[in-house]
Amino acid sequence: MTPLGHLLFGYLFFLVLSKIYSRLSLSEFLFGALLPDIDALLLITGGYFLYHGMFTHSVFFLLFVAIIFGIRFSSVSIFAGGMLHLVIDMVLADTNPLNGLGMRLLWPLSGVQFYLGWFDLSFFPSGYWVHLIQNAAYEIILFMAILILYLVTYRLLTKRSFLSGFHAFLGPLKKTIKSFKN
Ligand SMILES: [Zn+2]
Repeated sequence: MTPLGHLLFGYLFFLVLSKIYSRLSLSEFLFGALLPDIDALLLITGGYFLYHGMFTHSVFFLLFVAIIFGIRFSSVSIFAGGMLHLVIDMVLADTNPLNGLGMRLLWPLSGVQFYLGWFDLSFFPSGYWVHLIQNAAYEIILFMAILILYLVTYRLLTKRSFLSGFHAFLGPLKKTIKSFKN
């Protein structure tokens, strides 16, 4: 999944998870949901294809960052967002052939690669950047489909308009933007 997909689906999962745990913070959850792909910086050095899914896709890395940032921010939100990222990456088994399939969740203690592999994506059939754009397009389409489903369900359950459903959908986002302004 691309960083854009992690952001969009992070938001969807936040909508659900924040109903269970109301103190979840959107900005910190999304920060966590993007965090593991910081290893994309390795693209600069060429190390990405060897190490993607390793250093930053580890539970210990997430714990470390969550504890450090926990001094000022919500550790639970960062860690939960990060774990969501790892689960999605494991399900999509979206990795590259140079470093093997799956996420090294226990790095640096163990190099075992974990994946659930329900959608074993063949990697880079058409080059890295084209692959990235294609995936982002699929993710946007899937996100839009889920949004439409949400709006229809909202209308059926509440009998209120699609527009107010859309406002409800964006509620946590608007709240977060407002809290940044203050
Ligand atoms: Zn990832």
